[in-house]
Amino acid sequence: MADLTRLTAAETAERIASGAVSAVEVTEAHLARIDAVDEKVHAFLHVDREGALAKAREVDGKRARGEQLGPLAGVPLALKDIFTTEGVPTTAGSKILEGWIPPYDATVTRRLKEADVVILGKTNMDEFAMGSSTENSAYGPTGNPWDLTRVPGGSGGGSSAAITAYEAALAIGTDTGGSIRQPAAVTGTVGVKPTYGGVSRYGMVAFSSSLDQAGPCARTVLDAALLHSVIAGHDELDSTSIDRPVPDVVAAARNGSVDGLRVGVVTEFRGEGYQAGVLQRVDETVELLRELGAEIVEVSCPSFTKALAAYYLIAPSECSSNLARFDAMRYGLRVGDDGAHSAEEVTALTRAEGFGDEVKRRIMLGTYALSSGYYDAYYGSAQKVRTLITRDFERAFSQVDVLVSPTTPTTAFPLGERADDPMAMYLADLCTIPANLAGNAAMSVPCGLAPEDGLPVGLQIIAPAMADDRLYRVGAALEAAHQARWGHPLLEEAPSL
Ligand code: GLN
Repeated sequence: MADLTRLTAAETAERIASGAVSAVEVTEAHLARIDAVDEKVHAFLHVDREGALAKAREVDGKRARGEQLGPLAGVPLALKDIFTTEGVPTTAGSKILEGWIPPYDATVTRRLKEADVVILGKTNMDEFAMGSSTENSAYGPTGNPWDLTRVPGGSGGGSSAAITAYEAALAIGTDTGGSIRQPAAVTGTVGVKPTYGGVSRYGMVAFSSSLDQAGPCARTVLDAALLHSVIAGHDELDSTSIDRPVPDVVAAARNGSVDGLRVGVVTEFRGEGYQAGVLQRVDETVELLRELGAEIVEVSCPSFTKALAAYYLIAPSECSSNLARFDAMRYGLRVGDDGAHSAEEVTALTRAEGFGDEVKRRIMLGTYALSSGYYDAYYGSAQKVRTLITRDFERAFSQVDVLVSPTTPTTAFPLGERADDPMAMYLADLCTIPANLAGNAAMSVPCGLAPEDGLPVGLQIIAPAMADDRLYRVGAALEAAHQARWGHPLLEEAPSL
């Protein structure tokens, strides 16, 4: 039989539904693949063998009884370790949550289970989703399957690596400033940050609540759409969840087209600091959009150049408040609980040992930015920039249907290269952050390999809030045109592990 790990999620679901293969066979093939390669890749922090096989047996049972199956029934998925999973460890990449077993499921987890998706396990990530390389994980970095000496992006590098290495057909990520899109770009996969409020944050460990958004990671645009439609939709348990119908992303992914579409190329996202090969592939892809019938215009969004600075005040501010809950009393780690220390001392000792350097840096930055006397100068100014960015988007979307740019300025950088240089690390999200600050929907799709290093390049597509379907229409059209040109999916060029 053909290698079951190479199928798309859509194909896998179809074969399981028709009885051509069983969900147990598919799950076993992926568990075997994890056994074979994950020691090298380190995409997973926890593999839930028993849980995955039990779910697969349940799917096979349902099918045998002729019961209705979900659209992704039996498809194996890797879940970022930031979502609570009842009875299964959840660390958010932090030592402070080591050993914590959540008593409940996140809404995303629950919806995946209800859709009969098989959750293989939890993926590695930068601690509390702070980072762009997965090197800030307390449990060691993940390698990029294209070149294991390079980063798989971050914070969701475990999720992007798992699908790139065929350890899972699908994965879930979260994107606060780019953590779904940037990993997708540097691994040659598809990643989508839905409209803010499109997917419930309930049970997702909070980093920066006004920016955090869960979304799909996949090898094809259609697979991403199928997963998007399973996890999205209103949830009473999240007060920022949007109570409106989810855009029909699956129909859009099945009907890729850019004919007559107005595409704006963001002027600000090129120039110094951008790798030549990245710009070359992005320019070629813009040209391809033109050939496919899109109308291309240049659009200037002047406030985007201030997005990174605003983000690094707003995100740390919110995290300094969100991470106060890790007080040694409620979750996981507790240090100094020996009768010789006061409760305050236990909290301080636990936080000192349980948080990594980047997390501490952000808590300090955020606490400072919110302190009286500095609040207006820092946090207040950043919020004003946020409004200017939103207005830039509004102006842009009065002229065009979608905006495009590189997803990230460079291809996958070597592990260690930026680990001790926070500023260099932060630059990886230069192009992705505006969509988070404004709450828009955005996607990264592969657009080829950079000539200088042979590594994947991603094109970012940004749509207005609640127009997520546009991303899929454009993404699917590009995917089809690119594959016709290359003769195969980009991932087939990845060296085998
Ligand atoms: N790399 C960015 C940061 O470190 C974004 C992270 C994210 O999207 N979770 O904050």
